Amino acid sequence: MRLNALDDFKCIADKCPQHCCVEWKIALAKETITDWRQQPKEVQQSLMQFVRIEQTASGTDSFIKKKENGDCICLKGSGLCTIQSKYGEELLPSGCRLFPRMSYQIANVNIETASMACPELTRLISDYDTLELFNNELSHNRTERGQLSSRDSAFTAIYQFTRKILVNCQANLAVKISLITNVTNKLVSYMEQANYNQQHFEVIYKKTLSRPQKQLKDLEYSFSQHKKKINVPEFLLYWEAIITIVQRRNIEFKGLGLDLTDIYNIIHCKINSEKTKVKSLTRLLCYRNRVGNNRVEKILENYIYVIYINHGFPLNPYNNNLFLALSYCNVVFSITSILLAVKIQKNEVLDKDSVNNIIWQVERIVGSSDDIYNYIAANDILFSPNKYSPYLKYLFGSI
Ligand code: SF4
Repeated sequence: MRLNALDDFKCIADKCPQHCCVEWKIALAKETITDWRQQPKEVQQSLMQFVRIEQTASGTDSFIKKKENGDCICLKGSGLCTIQSKYGEELLPSGCRLFPRMSYQIANVNIETASMACPELTRLISDYDTLELFNNELSHNRTERGQLSSRDSAFTAIYQFTRKILVNCQANLAVKISLITNVTNKLVSYMEQANYNQQHFEVIYKKTLSRPQKQLKDLEYSFSQHKKKINVPEFLLYWEAIITIVQRRNIEFKGLGLDLTDIYNIIHCKINSEKTKVKSLTRLLCYRNRVGNNRVEKILENYIYVIYINHGFPLNPYNNNLFLALSYCNVVFSITSILLAVKIQKNEVLDKDSVNNIIWQVERIVGSSDDIYNYIAANDILFSPNKYSPYLKYLFGSI
């Protein structure tokens, strides 16, 4: 299974609005150091001066040194890389050579995808029809299902279900994400039960994942009837948790040129009454919902689909935890939605480029951080889908 945008991808190097060499900590694989040590003495010395050794829990790791401003030491003023321009692509650290490409394996299937922290890749993805994002969509799994473990069969079935929902349905994105979240929660809860039985589980997941269109319609109806009432304290806890993540990364969010004061005010300052907080928050999200489906939703739909796959949901879950992988993506997506709301509130133009701009920057800032995974895992409200999923309708759509 492969992200089709990879075929068209070409690094735009010095034309990139923000290099992968900016701010990130670039780890050096042992093979890279070995390669460098095998070069002629002069080249070797020149390359090794870029290396910084760091003590870690497991011993020592090597990284590329950084400049005072946090950029990679090899990034030249022209935007080009010293190693690449002097010694060629072969001697680049493997992470730099491969970025934004990513790959992993599930059962007997290779997944080739790419990080949306790369502006060029994000631009390409936004131009795709959701249906065309990946090729070979696990199709051969169907014939090989007999060889898969029950767990892999279940995850493949969740994948097929997720795909059907995200790609084929006309429903609002909020409803789609809520449904995926609900059914995943049901299955994970069952798997965690003490009397978990694999055979019985197969029956359960087949039943849970059946008739996606009907489930979607029911949920859409329930949303539109406002049957899912808001629990105000939980609603605010969800927001506080999301805002805490934004605040944890506050300095880096400056790159978006966004004034997040409105959000902080809503959650932390001055407003004491819960009712006013909710009203204020709902007003902010209304700005988000003002954007018509056609303009932005398609880009967001592609975004959520690709980050589900990139973060392992449902094929290669983070630390073997399917629900954590899903929650992580939903949380990152919530942050994107807040930033969109702030942009709209400021009457800024929200065209394809500006939405893409938010996406790749959010991905760069929060898109792959153990710190945030840990925070979500430890936070009851972010890690309890049955609590947060009713709020998705405020986040992602206007119903
Ligand atoms: S972020 Fe993407 S386009 Fe920019 S320099 Fe890195 S690989 Fe190239």
